[in-house]
Amino acid sequence: MEQTIDKKGMMASDKVDENQLLVVKGLKKYYPVKNGFFGGATKTIKAVDGVNFEVKKGETFSIVGESGCGKSTTGMCLNHLISPTSGEIYFNGKTFKNSKNKEIKELRRQMQVIFQDPYSSLNPKHTIKRIISEPLVINRMGSKSEIEDRVRSLISLVGLGEHHLNRYPHELSGGQKQRIGIARALALNPELIICDEPVSALDVSIQSQILNLFEELQEKLNLTYIFISHDLSVVEHISDRVAVMYLGKIVEQGTREKIFSNPQHPYTQALLSSVPIADPKLKKSKNRIILKGDPPSPKNPPKGCHFHTRCPYKVDACEASYPVMKKVSEGHQAACHLLT
Ligand code: SF4
Repeated sequence: MEQTIDKKGMMASDKVDENQLLVVKGLKKYYPVKNGFFGGATKTIKAVDGVNFEVKKGETFSIVGESGCGKSTTGMCLNHLISPTSGEIYFNGKTFKNSKNKEIKELRRQMQVIFQDPYSSLNPKHTIKRIISEPLVINRMGSKSEIEDRVRSLISLVGLGEHHLNRYPHELSGGQKQRIGIARALALNPELIICDEPVSALDVSIQSQILNLFEELQEKLNLTYIFISHDLSVVEHISDRVAVMYLGKIVEQGTREKIFSNPQHPYTQALLSSVPIADPKLKKSKNRIILKGDPPSPKNPPKGCHFHTRCPYKVDACEASYPVMKKVSEGHQAACHLLT
């Protein structure tokens, strides 16, 4: 259906759906690369290649896939940390395409990012108090004493004490550092948080504490999350809906239940079959799908379905054309020629 957009960039159809926070249509991020030492013909890396999804207010939407599939680049394009090559992004029904710096700054206020490595994302020369108060100071969010009150309430919100405020990042554990990253992301009262592999640098025991904190904060503050991860156990724990990416494209998306109990795309099936199972009895009954080789280079993706070089179910059509996304059931779609 064609969308009509008014002068403020509002989509006509989105004005009525107040539950929809983010709509992404045909998002692409291409990088030109020179071939060889002396230049030569330019090739294009299609890091993100025509991605579509929607995120509802208050839900956790996860993007999963192997390293290099384009999931983090998608996240960075959403709040214009990197500029998309093309595509439409609507936040609360408003597009920020061709927006001025002031509008992009406002978008970033409402859409914060939490990064994978809590240590390198915190300035080692600054105290925790300064790190958390920085976004409030830059955005002039109150007087000095109001900012100090806000910093105290943020540190307690993430389960740390006021005594941590005068410490430096190197004096904290990995989990405590990630709590500081979360406090800083919450400082400006965002509606959406993009969590880019937020627990993968942490020990397993700490991971569950941080995941519980994400869930508590979501309920308390009515937050919406985009959760980017390669770890399917984490994604199964935290998500409402899941999109699976392969070589810059979403190959399957649906509710957590549908993706985990009835995966339709051979790539999703292979990913799920590789999730480790602790119970030895269940382990024996599980059919592991071993994929051939590494993912192809995004500089030179295979023609047709990008997955055909590794797919155990490949048919002739798979090399000829890229499969369209088909509806499997309500709230569940996949792109595979085998789906009728
Ligand atoms: Fe496999 Fe063909 Fe389906 Fe691609 S379209 S996932 S190659 S069966």
